Amino acid sequence: MTLHKLPAQKVRPGFPARLGESKLASPPVRPALAHALASDKGHPGLMPHGLGMDSIAVRQSMVRKLAQQGITDPLVLKAMGHIERHRFVDSALVNQAYEDTSLPIGLEQTISKPGVVARMLELLRQGQSGSMGRVLEIGTGCGYQAAVLSQLCTEVYSIERLRGLHDKARDNLRHFRLANLHLLLGDGMLGYAKGAPYAGIIAAAGGDAIPAAWLEQLAIGGRLVAPVSAAASSPARQALVVVDKTIHGLKQTVMEAVHFVPLKSGVA
Ligand code: SAH
Repeated sequence: MTLHKLPAQKVRPGFPARLGESKLASPPVRPALAHALASDKGHPGLMPHGLGMDSIAVRQSMVRKLAQQGITDPLVLKAMGHIERHRFVDSALVNQAYEDTSLPIGLEQTISKPGVVARMLELLRQGQSGSMGRVLEIGTGCGYQAAVLSQLCTEVYSIERLRGLHDKARDNLRHFRLANLHLLLGDGMLGYAKGAPYAGIIAAAGGDAIPAAWLEQLAIGGRLVAPVSAAASSPARQALVVVDKTIHGLKQTVMEAVHFVPLKSGVA
């Protein structure tokens, strides 16, 4: 894991996303789960130490529930089974770490529900069988999704604007020794041009438009997954938006309603 510090940056013009149509997750496919669990022989440094939250059985039960909710990508299920979510939440919340719930991580931010993380990662990877190339994550938070992403991509750049959470994520992630994960402190609304072009961009915070820099930094053939507010006047109404960048231009698909913390500019 490497750390980079970025200067505070200004907001760029947006790419408005229209919300309205809604598509739902595909139905569960059991063989994908069987594959994910059967191939889960543990990961060096991620082996269970006991029968409590450390136990791989607790994560496998979470993975089973994700499959029941419709997550079918075996690599996503496997990665969610590997990364110990309880290492990313405060000790008082550890007993809720494998429930499908978002939890506070400090500074008024939350770690997303496992179901939402899995859904977004599945959307990001759709149509890919192997590992993805370079991926940019906006909103490191406590670092959980970045750790899961690191199992699915060759390189992950994850940006956080709040210094307190950037530091917390670095502490949480130290245990995992993820050499392909790079943590950045900066305004993710400007993306991270040095790592571009990206095969994937994923945001864990929702604004009223998709920043132009993200679309510029997405590779041709790349995909972006982000929550977007229905309108600046009602920031609480958000939907997941998928943008595919092709040689013919950008194709945007609006998915289901979601609830994410707001995308903000500047570093604090
Ligand atoms: N993926 C995270 C979720 C964190 S919540 C996890 O697994 O914990 C979303 C995060 O986005 C918050 O920490 C918030 O501070 C951050 N955020 C909001 N606007 C941002 C911006 N412009 N640049 C970088 N991070 C931002």
